[in-house]
Amino acid sequence: MQLADAQRPRRSLQPDQAGLLEFPAEEPFYLPIGQEVTIFEAAYQRRLPVMLKGPTGCGKTRFIRYMAWRLHRPLVTVACHDDLSANDLTGRFLVRGGETVWQDGPLTAAARAGAICYLDEVVEARQDTVVAIHPLTDDRRILPLEKLGELLQAHPSFHLVVSYNPSYQHLMKDLKPSTRQRFVTIGFDFPPRDLETEIVCRESGVERAMAATLVKLAERVRLLRDRGLVEVASTRLLVHAGHLIAVGVEPRHACEAAIAGPLSDDPDLLAAVMELIAVVLP
Ligand code: ADP
Repeated sequence: MQLADAQRPRRSLQPDQAGLLEFPAEEPFYLPIGQEVTIFEAAYQRRLPVMLKGPTGCGKTRFIRYMAWRLHRPLVTVACHDDLSANDLTGRFLVRGGETVWQDGPLTAAARAGAICYLDEVVEARQDTVVAIHPLTDDRRILPLEKLGELLQAHPSFHLVVSYNPSYQHLMKDLKPSTRQRFVTIGFDFPPRDLETEIVCRESGVERAMAATLVKLAERVRLLRDRGLVEVASTRLLVHAGHLIAVGVEPRHACEAAIAGPLSDDPDLLAAVMELIAVVLP
């Protein structure tokens, strides 16, 4: 649907008037784990959309901020949820001071500005919302803005990235093959012991020996996955525990608050995590 000239809004807000674009000024600390930087750069060079796949708290968001900095691109991040509509992504008309103005949504702002658009936890979004991104993922690289009567051609530097946590996956919420197959997939998992120790040490400021103890605890807690723990101790939780310890909280208490508490409400699983904390921090 095209709008007649008389119906067009008097003006559009500039792409970043809603403060959607982030320009990482300083290099975000990111410790590469495998080939992710090389693969991402190759995908970016050919503008192939990328899916970062892995559990929560394992470095996906940090990675994309690092890549935005490395590639000198602004970043637009959208936390997807089940109320997110296609209009939330593309934009809407607003009335401002008696004037009707068009406000770009985050996806449109990114496509105009040549930003990296990161749709975090894309599986959480409604199916019709996910389908709205399809025309941007193939070589047309277009975004139909029906309400505005515009077929937006994405800026040459625009790049679409989504994240996906397979453990959230259940029958109703899996991504359709027609969506998945549009993305080059980069797998993420918790870093190997030495690298995770370095990350916890550097991010939280705890001594290396304490960081190593936290990682040892995490390795044991991660084995509880087999006993029904849905999300296991992520690098994020270790960093949180490290922060508490670094400012003087007794390590056991720090682990109970930052690792055990957030993981489960199930009394048996909670008791199992507490037991592991007592073993690792006698
Ligand atoms: P996700 O987006 O996968 O849920 P984040 O990127 O937010 O997870 O990672 C959580 C935290 O873990 C980060 O804030 C950072 O402190 C740390 N982290 C995880 N992996 C790395 C890494 N490879 N390099 C640097 N920090 C990392």
